[in-house]
Amino acid sequence: MKSDRNREIPVKIERSLWGISAGRCEFEGCNCFLGINPITMETGNYGEKAHIEAVSKGGARYREVMDVEELNSTDNLMLMCAKCHKTIDDNPEIYPVVRLREMKKSHENRVYWLTEYDNVQQSYMVGYFANIKNYQPEFDNVQFCKALVSDKKIPSERYINLIGSSNMPFSDGTKEFYFVQEKAIEQGVERVIKQCIHENENISIFALAPIPLLIKLGEKISDIANISVFQCHRKEDKWSWDRDNKDIVNFIIQMPEQVNQKRVAINISLSADIIDSRVKHTVGEISTYKITIENPNRLFVTNKGIIDDYIKAFRNCMETIKNDNPEIKEVLVFPAMPNSLAIRTGMDYMPKCDPTLIIYDQVEQSKDFIETITIGGK
Ligand SMILES: [Zn+2]
Ligand SMILES: [Zn+2]
Repeated sequence: MKSDRNREIPVKIERSLWGISAGRCEFEGCNCFLGINPITMETGNYGEKAHIEAVSKGGARYREVMDVEELNSTDNLMLMCAKCHKTIDDNPEIYPVVRLREMKKSHENRVYWLTEYDNVQQSYMVGYFANIKNYQPEFDNVQFCKALVSDKKIPSERYINLIGSSNMPFSDGTKEFYFVQEKAIEQGVERVIKQCIHENENISIFALAPIPLLIKLGEKISDIANISVFQCHRKEDKWSWDRDNKDIVNFIIQMPEQVNQKRVAINISLSADIIDSRVKHTVGEISTYKITIENPNRLFVTNKGIIDDYIKAFRNCMETIKNDNPEIKEVLVFPAMPNSLAIRTGMDYMPKCDPTLIIYDQVEQSKDFIETITIGGK
């Protein structure tokens, strides 16, 4: 038996181990960061130094021939969290030396290459979440970070910055609700974005809310350069872009049956089809321009190119309306659309030359549309 003294790992070895592992658990699939207590946020050394081949006889993966220096070298040690350390030491038959060496090599190789690039674009994460009908959006910081990585960026801070409170009231379908939310967006954009971003800093937007509020959010950030808008995909890794996805969506603009110089509406039927008679039922006879796709659904925004193609269709529709109706001052908008497209609609609205947009929303599926907020016109 070797004496207990032999278990002591020299400080320089421990430092080297922390460095090559980047302070993260080296057990495959764990990767937890060991320099902070995730509950209390206190910084500290929460890592354990796990021996691949045990120091003492009877220990996991013990082999007589190794000397103390070899045993306590970085080559024979892995930085691990307490759970993973226990797992490998309790089950040496499942985690033999070769398996652990593989994990160590792969972890340290990944850390080395990921930190080799010193010019990765950083992005400031901003979130806005308001309750939609009876659905309360959840937010998951890890998924936002993964989404940034899918866009070849990394977060500039560890956590997302929220506009508004995380506990928004449910829409009661009154104009007052939208008015209060509109003010919250205005103040939030000022506080969370305008006072915090540095020049040319990239911003990533994650937002789920009733569509009129997303369009309003877009309008409020339209003067800021360098914004990436993310789509919620409602599946695993909900906000990440699939970089291999090359889907193309054909946006269709349908012209009104007759051009009416006085009243104009846009029916945006993308996530669902809004039947024209519902628009008429709400606001009476009106020239309705429709932006739609072949099979309206909630999942078609699978790559960023689709957002750009939608914006081309939206701008095209706005210009057509202005050409057909030169005197037009306001346009009523009936939207059913994915979150990213709603935000971009507000961002690509042109306050100086577009008519005012009056946005309608359907509070419950069965009910009529109600007038909510106004874009532009000030
Ligand atoms: Zn150990
Ligand atoms: Zn672990």
